[in-house]
Amino acid sequence: MPTTALTDRLDASAREFVLAPHRLLIGAAAVEAADGRTLASLDPSSGAEIATVPLAGRHDVDRAVAAARDALETGPWQRMPAAERARLIAALADAVEDHSDELAEIESLDNGKPVKLAKVVDVADTVAYLRYFSGWPTKIEGGVLPVAAERMLCYTRMEPVGVCGQIVPWNFPLLMAAWKVAPALAAGCTVVLKPAEQTPLSALRLGELALEVGFPPGVLNVLTGDGSTGAELVEHPGVDKIGFTGSTAVGRQVGAKASGALKRVTLELGGKSANIILPDADVEAAVKGAYQAIYFNSGQACNAGSRLYVPAQIFDEVLAALVDRASQARLGPGLDPATQLGPLISAEQQERVMRCVRQGEAEGAHLLAGGGPALTESGGWFFSPTLFAVEDDELAVSREEIFGPVLVASAYEELEEVVRRANSTPYGLAAGVWTRDLSAAHRLAQMLKAGTVYVNRWGASDPAAPFGGVKSSGVGREHGWLGLQAHLEAKTVWVAL
Ligand code: NAP
Ligand code: MG
Repeated sequence: MPTTALTDRLDASAREFVLAPHRLLIGAAAVEAADGRTLASLDPSSGAEIATVPLAGRHDVDRAVAAARDALETGPWQRMPAAERARLIAALADAVEDHSDELAEIESLDNGKPVKLAKVVDVADTVAYLRYFSGWPTKIEGGVLPVAAERMLCYTRMEPVGVCGQIVPWNFPLLMAAWKVAPALAAGCTVVLKPAEQTPLSALRLGELALEVGFPPGVLNVLTGDGSTGAELVEHPGVDKIGFTGSTAVGRQVGAKASGALKRVTLELGGKSANIILPDADVEAAVKGAYQAIYFNSGQACNAGSRLYVPAQIFDEVLAALVDRASQARLGPGLDPATQLGPLISAEQQERVMRCVRQGEAEGAHLLAGGGPALTESGGWFFSPTLFAVEDDELAVSREEIFGPVLVASAYEELEEVVRRANSTPYGLAAGVWTRDLSAAHRLAQMLKAGTVYVNRWGASDPAAPFGGVKSSGVGREHGWLGLQAHLEAKTVWVAL
């Protein structure tokens, strides 16, 4: 049952939503899971149960895919002019903006993140994302092709890829949902969205808002559930494209299954991103940036800068400044406005991070800050911002994605050495460079094997700027034209004249 103390801290609209019964959104209906199963969503700041949501099974996936297929092939959606599709996506952006405070509170409660961060990052970026993609429907063009054959007209139509099964993680629940849903809707696809089991609430609210602003039923269906729900969606023959954000381990299975069925698939996976300070960098800015790069969202970001490379001559200075910052971090519940770092998402995640830290210590990494759970009396899953110094890149803490507030820092001597070390990972999501040397910045941007390179600003993001990984960090790109294209199929039409 929801605790009074907790919900008392929510404004009326968030409280009303959190306390209301939660249902799957399938077509126009809000329904229980066919077999009546449910799962609990917990407050990571206290471990208390805040809501119960349906756990969708095979039958529910079947119904949701059928609703999406219907909307795609027979409903008003497929006849809708592009301008009207654009208007609806823009209306959804407006609705999310109008409900900013409510959504930020829901997100903060369900995920644990600071409410201010939820508002200025998660919700604001969701609005910007929807707004950006509302501009696309009216700009999707095919072309007339200069074919050799005489008296033949050849042209392309860019058509929606179809029903999209979209599976998202718990670290930015609403924003990851928007990253999936917005380009799909812009392309004219229909969607079955599966939020992570730990954070089901904001996706349900997004689905409600979509119906409220007038999306035809079945265009956006939301199935709360767990990994088995995701697996059913991936295997369903009625799904044309899978969009997945999550761990590399699960992404590998999802990719294999979807590819086996010849579905379209895009995967945004994990990372172990290198952040490189060059000797000429503005050290103060680099320290601030390196701190943010790893501890933002309590380290639960796919593009976290979790490996820091520092020139040997400033290593001690940089690490001392990071330890100083880490020791001053204000940890607390997301809904407390003073909180800078919220809890980790779950007890499992806290244990996982703890295991990684213990292993690091056992393997000889030097612990300089943090190293264990914090605020344990709260019942929440807090973890102190943790900093290791290591001599090489072979330790598990230097190689494996931890997905928590754990930074591994290492000294280097030569530029060639640091590039080789930065690239010596199976991952390739992001990389960062801190320098005042323009030439070095661009040379490194070329040499680093990553989907994104940040120079003097970790984590910059925009709906227009492609995002995704190379190597084990994923397949395909989200955002911008490339993100839209992943939801389109080119049909070639030949007409004998
Ligand atoms: P996860 O365990 O891989 O889960 C991601 C999503 O997949 C969840 O909705 C999960 O459902 C679902 N799922 C689990 N097993 C499945 C299966 N067999 N078939 C289909 N779906 C399945 O990842 P996570 O721990 O939630 O998220 C953290 C990971 O996401 C990190 O590795 C991080 O790097 C990555 N991430 C990447 C990006 C990016 O853009 N590259 C962005 C954010 C996060 P349940 O939660 O209900 O089990
Ligand atoms: Mg939760």
